[in-house]
Amino acid sequence: MKYFSTRGGSEELSFEDTVLTGLAPDGGLYIPTSIPKLPENWKNDWKDYSFVDLSVAVLSLYISRDELSESELRSLVERSYASFRHPEVTPLKKLGDKKYVLELWHGPTWAFKDVALQLLGNLFEFFLKRRNERNPDKKEKLTVVGATSGDTGSAAIYGLRNKANISIFILHPKGRVSPIQEAQMTTVTDANVHNLAVKGTFDDCQDIVKALFADTEFNAKHRLGAVNSINWARILAQTVYYFLAYFSLRHYVGEDQDLEVQFVVPTGNFGDILAGYYAKKMGLPMAGKLGVATNANDILARFWKTGRYEKADSSASNAAAPLAMEPAAGSSDGKQATQDAGGVKETLSPAMDILVSSNFERLLWYLAFENVPEGETDRRGKAGKTVAEWMGKMKSDGRVEVPVAVLESARRDFCAERVSDEQTLETIRSHFLGEPSYIVDPHTAVGLNAAMRMAQHNPASMKQIILSTAHPAKFSEAVSAALKNSPEFDFDTQVMPEEFNGLLQKEKRVIDVQGPEVELVKRVIEERV
Ligand SMILES: *Cc1c(COP(=O)(O)O)cnc(C)c1O
Repeated sequence: MKYFSTRGGSEELSFEDTVLTGLAPDGGLYIPTSIPKLPENWKNDWKDYSFVDLSVAVLSLYISRDELSESELRSLVERSYASFRHPEVTPLKKLGDKKYVLELWHGPTWAFKDVALQLLGNLFEFFLKRRNERNPDKKEKLTVVGATSGDTGSAAIYGLRNKANISIFILHPKGRVSPIQEAQMTTVTDANVHNLAVKGTFDDCQDIVKALFADTEFNAKHRLGAVNSINWARILAQTVYYFLAYFSLRHYVGEDQDLEVQFVVPTGNFGDILAGYYAKKMGLPMAGKLGVATNANDILARFWKTGRYEKADSSASNAAAPLAMEPAAGSSDGKQATQDAGGVKETLSPAMDILVSSNFERLLWYLAFENVPEGETDRRGKAGKTVAEWMGKMKSDGRVEVPVAVLESARRDFCAERVSDEQTLETIRSHFLGEPSYIVDPHTAVGLNAAMRMAQHNPASMKQIILSTAHPAKFSEAVSAALKNSPEFDFDTQVMPEEFNGLLQKEKRVIDVQGPEVELVKRVIEERV
């Protein structure tokens, strides 16, 4: 299996190069040359597979044997998921006759990104080691740099801690990350892990990271790597739990039943749900459309409504424009106003606070491809050209409108709903008071709320699986805000996991950066790498 860029199409990379490269040089994302079909007897052969078995079975379809043997792959996967607390890794919980949640947060940092990042760290280490053994004169290293407002940083740190030939530098805004999330990052004291507490905002941190990647000299010298959700290995690792969920559901409802199932996914950068799309295209039966659940940062929900992929909500900001312009001219409220006119909105589900969804480009490629008539020459190249045009428009105008036929293709596989903060809180409350009582984090609540609305269009036989992306203790503010008036609610005994006890008191290692300046960060990296 080879990989090529969504914006190009001619150059093909191995799986190893795809994983180590991340973003393609033309700005595109890598996708496989074809989506493999499931083996004929998968339903029977795989039905009692563990998470590790399923990972090996699914991932081998995307990785050539001469790059990773089955036993090498198995050993990497086993190590990656040994760090999970639950024997099933991603267990399926029944909340109602038609409502199930897939708990993706039993990994080391209690959020779903662990599933992919635990494996990604091991893949990086394996490939670098092998390259260095084959070519000892040219020692290859990787310096991973990233900015975080809390969630992704800790998952990346836990994925890469203690890995040979890899250093990781994670920038967070000092004092602006929740205490638990700050402690999760800074109590990792492995020598290759460097937490930088930058005096500034999350945006400052992100700007510094962007500047480092844009600095070609610095980048080449240190071989900067990213672990963000565009890395193909992350998508691939996430396809596995869709299969596990399917089999778990069959165990609940009886194996002879024909399952009609809809997956609903709290979505930000479109990585988690895109993995579901791959699973579907491979042949996993999904009678229901994949449900995109967004918060107020609803670029995706708007796309499925209108066919326009645009940063600012033009229908709303037309009306709001005069208001948005006024304070900007001199008032200190200018920032708020520009945010309303199209910036990222801060919500109770911060891991989904995005302006554009980086992995959406991968779906756009498949939609473009479907709409190049069959029989035409070089369909792949033509789809790449279309995607490059769309993304170019996105960059220059902040918006692009796809043809009706493309929107119709998108609607065949997906539906979408936007969920407000108020609805998020209400959903946390109703599930706490539900039977069984179940406490969810705000991201999962977005998924549950969207699922409820999507269910209204479903046939009675349809079951829903909502992906639960974080443990509620990670987002204590939203959970406490939702449940503060419930007398039976007690955060410390009902939500707080034992493992968090003492976390805040543990030894920390963190480097203070006195201002949001690229040079200061560069110096830290130069000193420590
Ligand atoms: C990253 C994240 C999401 C969004 O996942 P995407 O793959 O970016 O769509 C949802 N919930 C939590 C808790 C996350 O950390």
